[in-house]
Amino acid sequence: MSEETMTHPACQVCGRRLLPGERPTSYLTRDGSDAVVCELCKPRAEAAGWLRPEEADSHRAAGGAPDRRRPRGSMLGGILARRPAVPGGEDRADVVSSPAAPTGRPPSTPPGDETAGTTIPAALVAFNFSDHRRTVAGLSRTLGPPRASALAISAASGDPAVRLTVAWELTWYQWEVSQGSRGPEVRESGKGETIDQLRAPDRTWNLMVDSDGTLQQRAAA
Ligand SMILES: [Zn+2]
Repeated sequence: MSEETMTHPACQVCGRRLLPGERPTSYLTRDGSDAVVCELCKPRAEAAGWLRPEEADSHRAAGGAPDRRRPRGSMLGGILARRPAVPGGEDRADVVSSPAAPTGRPPSTPPGDETAGTTIPAALVAFNFSDHRRTVAGLSRTLGPPRASALAISAASGDPAVRLTVAWELTWYQWEVSQGSRGPEVRESGKGETIDQLRAPDRTWNLMVDSDGTLQQRAAA
């Protein structure tokens, strides 16, 4: 683990690197391992049954088995839950446009590369080689195996792109894979909480997820 990582740990729920001065909250996950959680993700951590270390101690002292009782932070959780988890993004799951897309400059296509867009197999390879795979692996360790889908879409540029959706009971993430100047690029394009926030095509679970976060297509039935 690098020194940088030690100074600014990543939130175990959203994977976001904490900012300097941001105070992480320590939790014990349901399997008893330590986890650092950012302020915005505390409600989700508590909903998943994670406990503050002092709560876990009092549990043990009382001889209680770990259960899903509401931790006493739930009132604070209710307050925080009213705030969007991602500034400006949370309630608009259909936002896929890229603000970074420059106008008036066509995307460069490497010579000899006929397919300017991204196919689902190419998108899965790009995802599996990205750091986002580790986000899926980390969440799977605490939340259990997710469901996942890959959907061919049109990027903001009009080029073919692929939207990947990975969903647990309490949280879901989406990534968009599109052709960048140096090959397929993977970026987080959305996240939310419950599966019913997702559109039906994104809930067509056509992928398998390995415990290390690797996505692969299901064999055709
Ligand atoms: Zn977080």
